[in-house]
Amino acid sequence: MLQIRRDLVDEMIAHARRDHPDEACGMLPGPEGSDRPERFVPMTNFARSPNFYQFDSMEQIRLKREMDGNGEEPVVIYHSHTMTEAYPSRTDVDLAGEPGAHYVLLSTRHPEETELRSYRIVAGEVTEEPVEVVESYLFSHTGADDVPDRH
Ligand SMILES: [Zn+2]
Repeated sequence: MLQIRRDLVDEMIAHARRDHPDEACGMLPGPEGSDRPERFVPMTNFARSPNFYQFDSMEQIRLKREMDGNGEEPVVIYHSHTMTEAYPSRTDVDLAGEPGAHYVLLSTRHPEETELRSYRIVAGEVTEEPVEVVESYLFSHTGADDVPDRH
């Protein structure tokens, strides 16, 4: 499951809408081992294509260095589809090199409504996971008795 703050969801949707009809891409780094995306990093789609995305390699190297320096990892790697549903394409699966990341797909094919779904992609296998949108991470794991334990 992906637990994610609402402001980060809103930023990703705004980015996907802004870059439409091209695909938009980026990452949400978070503290290593936390599984918690903390900040929004929109990236350049080097391919500038309506049906393909490619991180700008210089930008990617810079971000990787920055994340290493901060003790962060790419918790979420996102991109948008502009004509098809929010499901990883054959190419997306082939290029997915981070088994620990949540791959978020957005679809801007409907003008009014943006679809957002999340996947794990491990060794070529795609597994969809639930997305829980929260206002803040602070209050999400309270340990209260009436909250069923998910672990
Ligand atoms: Zn794709």
